[in-house]
Amino acid sequence: MSESTETIFNKIIRREIPADIVYEDDLAIAFKDIHPQAPVHILIIPKKPIKSLVQAQAEDINLMGHLLLTARRVALQAGLNNGYRVVINTDDDGGQTVNHIHLHLLGGRQMTWPPG
Ligand code: 5GP
Repeated sequence: MSESTETIFNKIIRREIPADIVYEDDLAIAFKDIHPQAPVHILIIPKKPIKSLVQAQAEDINLMGHLLLTARRVALQAGLNNGYRVVINTDDDGGQTVNHIHLHLLGGRQMTWPPG
């Protein structure tokens, strides 16, 4: 991962590049993944540019809880009444490619385990 704090997700927050935004509030924004891995694949991100879960601090506890509950809200909104998966890929071994912490909300099909 690059060390820059400027990412494509910051550009989406600032509306500098288009995204299919499905939810937004003061702290978070949720938008459809450009390369969906499931019938529903939505990214939930904080507006605060935390790079990965490794960089989240104790002061972020309310924000991190808010992101989880936002995933729940967006899942309900998307009609995922039979379950879903929430994933946080973290740093290189976790497969993180965008340097701004994000939750993947995946649903609309049966998930398998283990993930790749
Ligand atoms: P990661 O691999 O970091 O966990 O997930 C990054 C995700 O961001 C990927 O699933 C990728 O498809 C998505 N993504 C990357 N660039 C863009 C973009 O410009 N727009 C949207 N909507 N999603 C993006």
